[in-house]
Formats: sequence, C-alpha cells, structure tokens
Amino acid sequence: MKRLDFLKILALTPLSLAAMKLKELETITHGLIPTEKMPVLFLGHGSPMNAIEENEFVTGFKNVGKEIPKPTAILIISAHWETKGTFVTAMEKPRTIHDFGGFPQALFDVQYPAPGSPELAIETKNIIKKTTVGLDDKWGLDHGAWSVVKHLYPKADVPIIEMSIDYTQNAQYHYDLAKEIAALRKKGVLIIGSGNMVHNLGMVAWDKLNADSFGYDWAIEANEKMKKFILADDHQSLINFKSQGKAFDLAIPSPEHYLPLIYSLALKEKNEKVSFFNDKAVAGSLTMTSLKID
Ligand code: ZN
Repeated sequence: MKRLDFLKILALTPLSLAAMKLKELETITHGLIPTEKMPVLFLGHGSPMNAIEENEFVTGFKNVGKEIPKPTAILIISAHWETKGTFVTAMEKPRTIHDFGGFPQALFDVQYPAPGSPELAIETKNIIKKTTVGLDDKWGLDHGAWSVVKHLYPKADVPIIEMSIDYTQNAQYHYDLAKEIAALRKKGVLIIGSGNMVHNLGMVAWDKLNADSFGYDWAIEANEKMKKFILADDHQSLINFKSQGKAFDLAIPSPEHYLPLIYSLALKEKNEKVSFFNDKAVAGSLTMTSLKID
C-alpha cells in the first residue's frame, strides 16, 4: 500500500480500525522481521545465455533455490554494477537491464519483473557505517543479477535490491564492508554475490565454447587453490589475491567478477560450512564454481 493511500484510509476509518491499519503499516515499513539466519550464496553466472538455456549450471541454480528457505528479500552484489562509492537500488520496480551485446533476440526479450525493496535499501544504508551508502533510482537489475536469480525464483516474487561495487576500493575494504550487512541474514534476507571466481574474457577459448567443460591449466589451478583457501577459512590469502602468483593473475585480470566472492565469504561465520556446486571450468578461462554458506 502506498503511504498516501494509507493516510487516506486512516482519515476515513474509526479509531480501532485505524489502529489496525497502523499495525499493517508497521509491517510494511519494518517488513524485515527477525528470522532464522539465511544462507549466503556466491553464484558463478558465466555467459548471459545461462538465463535462457537449460544446462547443468541452470539445474544447479534451480536446485539451490529449492534447498534454502524462501527469503523475504534478496540483496545481490553483481560484478556488473561498479560505481564510485557504494549504492543500493531503492526503486519500487527495478528494470531488467540487458547490459550486453551480440546475443540472440530471445535474451533481450527476457524480463524479470521482481519488485524492489525500498525498505531493504534504507535498512542497508542505515546499518553500513563504513561509508555513506547512496540510494539509487536509476540502475535496476543487470544480467549478473537476473540471469541467475530467475532460476532460483522463476515467479519473480521475491523483492530484490542490488548493491554496487566501489571500484576505487581494494578487496580488504570490500571484505570489511560486507561484514556490516551480516545482520540482514537474520531478517530473512538472502545475500548473493554474483560473479565468477576465474574470469578472463581476453583468453576465452572460442573454439571450446560449446564443449561441456574445458579449463586451461592455470584456470583449474587458480580455481582449486581458491577452493582450498575457502575450505580452510583462509580469507586473508583470498583478499591478498594479487600476491598469489601467475595462475591468480591470469584468473583475475580485473577484480569485478572476483569481489562478489569476497562479499559472500565475509559473511561466513566460523561454525558454518561451505558447499560447492557448478564446480566446472568453461571456455578455458572461466569457472562456474558457486557456493552456499550455511
Ligand atoms: Zn559477468
């Protein structure tokens, strides 16, 4: 209900009914009620074509959607929204952004009309102290968000906001910032990092695009090393990714697809476990490796 409509009702109703409506308003503005702690995901999104294909990665996304409790809202950090400073989308109806070129019309025709959540945007802004988070009314959902979330929640019935990646900051900053949103997990919010652990578009093996799975030695080496660090809770080595040698340098030529992983890992508590899925290399220089923390 819009606030104005509510105020109109309030003006026209007897006191007891008005009190009831007031309660209703409270659940709207404080819609983020305490819940069991939600899992955290990192999703390797890969090619935008995963949005409209049926393949094993899509099956992996669908399965994880069924495994976890249905969230009251989603906060997603996508590799495809980089800004100076940190922003959250705060509109009621985020548009579906087709931020790519050279793909079939069918992909441009996809709409993912999930509602936004201005409440969650404001709550996120309020709990982050490290920086002043901006409320954005222009972005929407880029393909890093909708191409994967549509498989988890095909009915587009879970409100969703995006949080941007500040490209002026290093991995340690992002790790520390992510820790500040941990409390949202206990308010029914599913936090998702969407990127790719290994992502080097300049070295894609174009002749292997349709192969089931193919990874260069360095891609597999980097992916395995990342998984080892993750399982050992050695987040510091992952934060210091620039000091991990040649395989890491090739796997992370620019950090935007890797940083969403750092956000997801920052939210892991000591007693929680990590399970991997979609753990495969494709097109030589990408890995689809995804994980669930719970
Ligand atoms: Zn991407």
